[in-house]
Amino acid sequence: MSIRLKLTLWYSGLFAIAFIVFGITVYNVVEHNTMSELRERLREVASKVQTSGGFFGEYNLDSTAPGFDASVIGIQLVDYRQRHAGIVLGKSRNMLLGVREITMPYPDQSEARERFTDASIHQTSFYIYEKPIYINGTKDIGGLLLVGANTDREQQFLSQLRGILWLSGGAALLAAFLLGMFLSRKALAPIDRVTDVAQRIQSGSELDLRIPRERADDEVGRLTDTLNGMLSGLEKAYKNLEETNAAQRRFVSDASHELRTPLTTIRGNVDLLEKIWAEQGDGDADNQAQGLSDADRRQLSLESIHDIADEARRMSRLVNDLLALARADAGYVVEMESLSLRPLAEEAARRASFLPRRAEWLVGPLEALNGVWVRGNRDYLLQLLSILIENGFKYTNEGSVRLYAARTGDYVGLTVVDTGIGLLPEHIPHIFERFYRADVSRGETAGTGLGLSIAKWIAELHHASIDVQSRPGEGSAFTIWIPVIPEQHDAIRG
Ligand code: ADP
Repeated sequence: MSIRLKLTLWYSGLFAIAFIVFGITVYNVVEHNTMSELRERLREVASKVQTSGGFFGEYNLDSTAPGFDASVIGIQLVDYRQRHAGIVLGKSRNMLLGVREITMPYPDQSEARERFTDASIHQTSFYIYEKPIYINGTKDIGGLLLVGANTDREQQFLSQLRGILWLSGGAALLAAFLLGMFLSRKALAPIDRVTDVAQRIQSGSELDLRIPRERADDEVGRLTDTLNGMLSGLEKAYKNLEETNAAQRRFVSDASHELRTPLTTIRGNVDLLEKIWAEQGDGDADNQAQGLSDADRRQLSLESIHDIADEARRMSRLVNDLLALARADAGYVVEMESLSLRPLAEEAARRASFLPRRAEWLVGPLEALNGVWVRGNRDYLLQLLSILIENGFKYTNEGSVRLYAARTGDYVGLTVVDTGIGLLPEHIPHIFERFYRADVSRGETAGTGLGLSIAKWIAELHHASIDVQSRPGEGSAFTIWIPVIPEQHDAIRG
């Protein structure tokens, strides 16, 4: 059953109960008033019928008492003195008129008492007042005075009232039902709209749809706000998921591509080696290799092996980088400790001094690092510095690469600055992307385009940021800003 119908039924039900209570009350009040007025009249007539003392002879049954209306009221006198069942002693004249004489029913002497009864005589309703008549000075009932009124008019009036109440009640109930339907439809219409939008979103991929907010601060308005908020969250999550998926697909395809290049070179060289060393005269497979002197063959082989070794190194570097990024994606938890930064920077500088390079390697000033501690992972921080330093060496043909430190507030900066090829401003925003290599470096220097992505991940792990300053042809400066922690005394040496 729909909420609309339920609401309407509840509403109509309550209305019907209220109306029934109202109708019964009105009817009872009206009936009571009508009948009590009649009772008063009957009592009054009864009291005026006896004109003087004595017993029956003194009754004037055609009373002219006020309230006596011969057209509706009749009087009857019953005598119990001869028979307990009583005999009718007299009647007012109006009861004797016409073809059908009227006799009001009366009880036995033993049951006679003052009371009002209803009776139907010749299909006419009567309301009768019975008043016992006592034998002089005793408590013995000798007779009964009946004053009855034709209540056809009253009954008709009450039955009309009942009819009116039923009719108006039915009409009001119908009106309440229709009004309830209309009101609940109006009240629930916004919910239908909400469902409508939700269904459209469910059936298509229209995640940017929002439910129009028409109402002020009512329940539906709040529901709309909540659902719209939820939809925004869903849309964002869905977009993030799509972006992540796309990035993942790009990453996998770039990685496969990068791995294929060294593999192709290695396979080519292995084929060449096979040809060079194939048995001489082994069919006509190798005309090229035939006729080579041993010295040539040795020379060619050495070159091939050299190529293979180079490519294998390149591949292992690439695989290591891919592994690091896979860990980053998997949310790899890195152990952190308090590290003294100066010894760490000196270690990085020492390792750098062994790297092949064309530029001069300079270290310092590092005084800003004295007594500076950070929270971090030693190996990862060394890797981060080594990525920046190696890049400096790779992209600097002459001049120098320098490592130095500076302090600003709660952050300490480690800068690797070079006098190398530099970067065009439009490349800078992309160099931290996976597999991104600025055009100038493509083909000229060996690299995977993954180093800075790893550097960025390590920096994020340490709540650090990397700042890049660069000018084409003049050089670049990469600065890692790491948050400083209060000086440690008994901590592990960094
Ligand atoms: P890779 O060096 O293996 O290409 P990176 O992620 O380390 O990959 O660097 C991405 C790109 O950023 C490099 O290809 C290069 O174009 C540019 N780059 C990085 N460091 C420097 C630098 N010190 N000077 C000039 N360009 C740089």
